[in-house]
Amino acid sequence: MSSPVVRHPELALDEAELAMRDMRDVRADFPGLLTPAGTPWHYLDTAATAQKPQAVIDATVRAMSADYATVHRGVYARSADMTLAFEAARLRVAKFLNASSSDEIVFVRGATEGINLVAQSWGGANLRPGDRILLSQLEHHSNIVPWQLIAQRTGAAIDVVPLTADGRIDLDAMAVMIRPEHRLVALAHVSNVLGSVLDVQRAARIAHDAGALLLIDGCQAAPRLALDMQALGCDFYLFSGHKLYGPTGIGVLWARAAILADMPPYHGGGAMIDKVTFERTSYAPPPARFEAGTPAIVETIGLAAALDYVDAIGLDRIAAHEDALVARTREALRGINSIRLLGPEDAAGIVSFAMDGVHPHDIGTILDENDVAIRAGHHCAQPLMAHLGVEATARASFGIYSDESDIEALLKGLDRVRAIFG
Ligand code: PMP
Repeated sequence: MSSPVVRHPELALDEAELAMRDMRDVRADFPGLLTPAGTPWHYLDTAATAQKPQAVIDATVRAMSADYATVHRGVYARSADMTLAFEAARLRVAKFLNASSSDEIVFVRGATEGINLVAQSWGGANLRPGDRILLSQLEHHSNIVPWQLIAQRTGAAIDVVPLTADGRIDLDAMAVMIRPEHRLVALAHVSNVLGSVLDVQRAARIAHDAGALLLIDGCQAAPRLALDMQALGCDFYLFSGHKLYGPTGIGVLWARAAILADMPPYHGGGAMIDKVTFERTSYAPPPARFEAGTPAIVETIGLAAALDYVDAIGLDRIAAHEDALVARTREALRGINSIRLLGPEDAAGIVSFAMDGVHPHDIGTILDENDVAIRAGHHCAQPLMAHLGVEATARASFGIYSDESDIEALLKGLDRVRAIFG
């Protein structure tokens, strides 16, 4: 990485202390994991959004109070300091992703906005009638609908890569179906329903051999897999801060500098310009070109604090911790006749299942009475539901703070579901 990482000194965590911590103690850092009565809340919906550690809450409170000022504009010291902290957060993200420069980091509201940005800006400039976009059967709606919108605008068409029997994106099939008309391939790194992990390097080779760019939706990968943009080989990568123990309203689009440099603006306004006249406006270079208006200052500072927190504990430890919880949960659920497990054995952080004769919403409601929170529904992946032949699934998803007690509470709750539904 060419840029040094500058930290806002106020945000520094005691990394040595965190790295030594037993994963079992991490739970105490998350005030959201209690019921109003002060008893443990078994939060198994981290794939929807993660609870926040006190370090992130503290960083955002400070950024909203003692440190608060605008960025990039003020001539007074507090604004200059906030600008430093804001740009340090960009460097922090660049380090987290091993980007070659912090200029490759565009702050967006979340993955959804990031994908819309690429679709409208890159797609609007590059797609022509006859061009094609390749998606997969398991994509989240936010990696489908933006492509439909730009396809309608440009006359491009969409093709869909099928899944293997165990719920992975079938890269053998992709290698056969990809054609020179495919200008862009957009795939999830980790499925938000099945937890299946994509071999991004292989997907990049297949896409690039056909002359297509590869966009990776990293929403479910960024909180649990160490990421290296130099090694992965994709061209665009996106994630949302709120799934990574950071605030809502902030996300990241990473793209190769040369690609960003050729992309037109997405939104117009302040901060993204070089010079404005009524006759002609010239634009700032990336990333500012894509960040019109006052940015999400507080949320960006909070995201940097979340990355500090996660890195201090260590993504390898987090992945191993979640893998053990997934394996334990799958083993226990396999012992229940009426339950059908969905997704591959090595799912990352997520266990989706269906129960004979019981709607997932009923499972979710009964579990809620036991202070267990799971997600029940189509998970914004209706084409995947159609493929699985279900309208909805029940999904338990794990995070840094999940533990055995959550699995026990889930199993106890499922016993109640079975008792009620016979
Ligand atoms: N892609 C995947 C795989 C997701 O899980 C999600 C969130 N559920 C999104 C995209 C959209 O993220 P956001 O709503 O934070 O923009």
